[in-house]
Amino acid sequence: MIAVYPGSFDPFTNGHLDVARRAARLFDRLVIGVYATPEKKLLFDLDERVALARAAVSAFSNIEVRPYSGLTVELARAATAQIIVRGLRVSADFEFEFDLAMMTHKLSPDLEMLCLMASPQYQFLSASLLKEVARLGGNVDDWVPAEVAEAVKTKVGRTI
Ligand code: ADP
Repeated sequence: MIAVYPGSFDPFTNGHLDVARRAARLFDRLVIGVYATPEKKLLFDLDERVALARAAVSAFSNIEVRPYSGLTVELARAATAQIIVRGLRVSADFEFEFDLAMMTHKLSPDLEMLCLMASPQYQFLSASLLKEVARLGGNVDDWVPAEVAEAVKTKVGRTI
């Protein structure tokens, strides 16, 4: 079975990696879809976000990273996926992910959305908080893969 894991991944964090790693054990293939134009202020452009996600999952032979624009259900169709995977943090995500699941079901009734609970150590970790900490000069090494930490430091123009 094939699953897609969509998101903005600006940038790819250890929380995203944890969800991807766990999903890759459940499915034959996992396609990480990096969404081109999220309604967020982005630190990294699409090519950078894709490259960082690819570097983070390079050790997994059944994970592929693709950029996409348009509907996630169309990405799933193109990837011949039956499942959309999302990560769920206790405090931040339920209502949004619930609405997304309802909308996905409306758009494509055969697609199931599967949410994996964030692991305890990543419950509080979000890409936006991470960017804020980096901008303010905090060390983010524990929360992102090494390539991402380097890219974040370069981007925010600091030697942390
Ligand atoms: P989006 O902009 O679509 O929310 P993100 O890149 O922020 O995309 O996140 C993609 C998915 O990963 C979402 O389902 C989000 O809830 C999940 N996610 C983000 N951070 C974590 C984390 N620390 N642990 C588990 N899942 C996470």
